[in-house]
Amino acid sequence: MVKRFGDNTVLDDLNFTVSQGERVTLIGPSGSGKTTILRLVMTLEELSGGYIHVGGQPLQYEESGGKRVRIPDRQRRRITQHIGMVFQHFNLFPNMTVLENITEAPIHVMGLSKAEAASKAEGLLDKVGLADKKNARPSQLSGGQQQRVAIARALAMDPEILLLDEVTSALDPELVGDVLAVLKDIAAETDISMLIVTHEMQFAKDVSNRVMMFDQGSVVEEGHPEKIFSEPENQRTQDFLRAVL
Ligand code: ADP
Ligand code: MG
Repeated sequence: MVKRFGDNTVLDDLNFTVSQGERVTLIGPSGSGKTTILRLVMTLEELSGGYIHVGGQPLQYEESGGKRVRIPDRQRRRITQHIGMVFQHFNLFPNMTVLENITEAPIHVMGLSKAEAASKAEGLLDKVGLADKKNARPSQLSGGQQQRVAIARALAMDPEILLLDEVTSALDPELVGDVLAVLKDIAAETDISMLIVTHEMQFAKDVSNRVMMFDQGSVVEEGHPEKIFSEPENQRTQDFLRAVL
C-alpha cells in the first residue's frame, strides 16, 4: 500500500499480511505512519496506491482488466462493518447514553431490534465491568470507563478485526490497567484479529503474536514480542525501545 498526504509519502509500498486470529503490535516513533495504517484499514483514509484485502476481499481498490478500480462505498461499508476501531480519544457520542452509544450501530447497521441490541449491549457492559453505567452519559464517566464503553461498542458489531490505536495513551496511569485487562480477556476469549498500536510493552508481550517496528513508513524489523523486546537486531528498534522503556 502507498499513502501520500500531498507530496509527503507516509507509506511507501508497505506490504504486510495479518492472518485470521493473529494479534500484531505496531511500534515505532511518532509520525512513522501507525495511525495512518489503521485508518486506511478502516477506510477513514483513501489509499494513494496499491491494495488492501480483508478476508480475501478487496477493500478500497481492486485490480480489474489491468486497471486499479475504486471499490464503491456500499461494498466498502459491507467489509468495514466487521472491523472495529478504538481510538486514543474515546470518540463516544456525547449526547447519547452509554447504552445508546453501544446499540446505535447494531440497530441501524445490523438491523437488530432495540430489545436485541440492548440485551447484547448489557452483556458487553457486564464484560467490561460497567453494567451499572448503562444510563450514564459519557461525560459522567472517567476516561478509563469511556474507553471500556468504546471497546464494548466496537464488540457490539461482532468484529472480525479490531484496530486499537494507543487506547490507553490519554488515560491517567491508574486507569490504564482496567482497560488493558478487558482487552487481554477479549484476546484470550475470542479469535478476533487485532492490529494494536501501543506503548505498553508488557501488554504487547501478553497479547501479541508478532511485533512490527515501523520507521518512516516501512517495517524495519518484525518478530515475536519476546525477541523484539529483549534482543532487537535493528539499530532503530534498539534506539526506539531504549527511549520508550
Ligand atoms: P503515527 O501514528 O505513527 O504517529 P501518523 O500515521 O499519525 O503516525 O502520521 C504519519 C505521517 O502522516 C506524519 O508525517 C503526519 O504528519 C502525516 N499525516 C497524518 N495524517 C495526516 C493528514 N490528515 N494530513 C496530512 N498529513 C497527515
Ligand atoms: Mg498515531
